Amino acid sequence: MRLLLLGPPGAGKGTQAIHLAERLGIPHLSTGEILRAVASKGTTIGREVAGIMQRGALVPDDLMVTIVRDRIAQSDARSGFILDGFPRTITQGMALEKILDSAGLRLDRVLELKVDGAMLLDRILKRAADAKASGLMERADDNEEALRVRLDLYRKQTEPLSDYYRSKGILRSVDGLQTIEAVSHVLWEAINT
Ligand code: ADP
Repeated sequence: MRLLLLGPPGAGKGTQAIHLAERLGIPHLSTGEILRAVASKGTTIGREVAGIMQRGALVPDDLMVTIVRDRIAQSDARSGFILDGFPRTITQGMALEKILDSAGLRLDRVLELKVDGAMLLDRILKRAADAKASGLMERADDNEEALRVRLDLYRKQTEPLSDYYRSKGILRSVDGLQTIEAVSHVLWEAINT
């Protein structure tokens, strides 16, 4: 099963992806996590990526496509994967299709979590406060300024992808404002219909 999760920052993609990955026995490929690992290294690219992420901006498409191509080619992703955080632009979406096409593969479902903008700001600022309170590392981009950039980029660059996947008949949109369990339940149904 090859799945893609679409949804704005704070929509709960990560939480749902982890759950689905476990249930389906396939890896969760989060480009945010991969990039945070790259950014934590003191290399030139690492520093560059860290700066981009801190502003809430997007890492260049060509670097993202290389990262995802390499990750998908690893053996644990052979029987399927859940992509979370990629594609984020139409260019990335087209590149993903090419990568999969050339291997004779295709996406089975694109799952979109829908949450309105005002709720997202609240959710993420709460996540940042909770992380701080429990002594966990805060994400450098979970502040109001970077979040506004991330939300704006999502609306302009990523959301148009949903129309593309809808036209292919593989998009399933789900209300992301329900409880975690309720969202899991409807996502599971969406995968199987
Ligand atoms: P969120 O969904 O909350 O925005 P992620 O962990 O998915 O968080 O991504 C964090 C940051 O990593 C993004 O704001 C962006 O800077 C970078 N990033 C992740 N995936 C991509 C991508 N596909 N293309 C460009 N930048 C990306």
